[in-house]
Amino acid sequence: MGIGPNSGAMTTAADIEQQLPENIAPRIRSVRFADGVATLVADASGLARAAAAELQKRLEESVGAMDGVSEVRVALMADKISRKIVAVGSGKGGVGKSTLTANLAVALARAGRKVGVVDADIYGPSQPMLLNAADKRPMAEDQQLIPTESEFGVKLLSMGQLVAPGKAIAWRGPMTGSALGQLMDAQWDDAEVLLVDLPPGTGDVQLTMLQKFKPSGAIVVSTPQDLALIDATRALDLFRSAGVPVIGLVENMAGYLCPHCGQPSDPFGSGGAEAAARALGEDFLGRIPLAMEIRVASDVGQPPAANDGPQGEAFARIADRLAAWLDSA
Ligand code: ADP
Repeated sequence: MGIGPNSGAMTTAADIEQQLPENIAPRIRSVRFADGVATLVADASGLARAAAAELQKRLEESVGAMDGVSEVRVALMADKISRKIVAVGSGKGGVGKSTLTANLAVALARAGRKVGVVDADIYGPSQPMLLNAADKRPMAEDQQLIPTESEFGVKLLSMGQLVAPGKAIAWRGPMTGSALGQLMDAQWDDAEVLLVDLPPGTGDVQLTMLQKFKPSGAIVVSTPQDLALIDATRALDLFRSAGVPVIGLVENMAGYLCPHCGQPSDPFGSGGAEAAARALGEDFLGRIPLAMEIRVASDVGQPPAANDGPQGEAFARIADRLAAWLDSA
């Protein structure tokens, strides 16, 4: 126990250190004590804001109750998380950009990464549905949004959570910019990567994203047919001209395996995105087949990447490439 004023001996920093509650002691980096003032430095790395505040409160209370301590000063330090922003874009809508974003996020989370998804697709914010979080509303603290948690270990904020369904599409420049700012500047805490589901094409949201929140890299999604690839090239150009490294191209809806006869067919062709990537000097990250299961599972908020099986593995392989890129970038 502590050495009280009545015992005749003076309380020392070592006494304080010894009496710290066991579960928070490992976080203490230094203790100083002079003239009744205890100054503690604690490591709050990896703690969410609320947990860090709780740590501070518990330190103040427990040390404040020790003999000879008249004042407690707590300094919390945390490793600064170098969070990487990865934009997922496409030249046009309906190519599976949102589906890919959600599944990459889930696959990365399964691989142990801390992931957040920012759904900036004002024309069709679908991440809340894809990640089965449509009934969740984000809270705010100190003017900052707190992302919602999905059951797949992925944090989420969506334009769709800020406005009534169908309203976001009417926004113009400054409004979309400030809404995007709210999503990006939220309390992402320990998220080491934010995947941003951009609207298709090259509009206001993309420009704000590139100018204000310069992504570390970008992934471009395309279906295999020529027309989609021409659009995808425009999306690539946008990132390149803004100096955002292109991580690579993904081909979605490539090759259809008939669930009845088992015969493969290529409604949109196959291999087009890989050839285009090569011609454009970009990496090809992989292809996702056109599969009824992907559409059905997506509609009910069960991303295939949350499970093993061929569809989940197709997403996991691309997530591995992304993870390797994140580690090297
Ligand atoms: P985008 O974000 O590019 O507009 P979505 O991700 O919303 O596209 O996908 C459009 C539709 O296509 C959705 O109904 C989705 O479930 C479906 N879809 C996406 N990828 C696949 C796939 N590989 N196989 C089958 N359906 C898919």
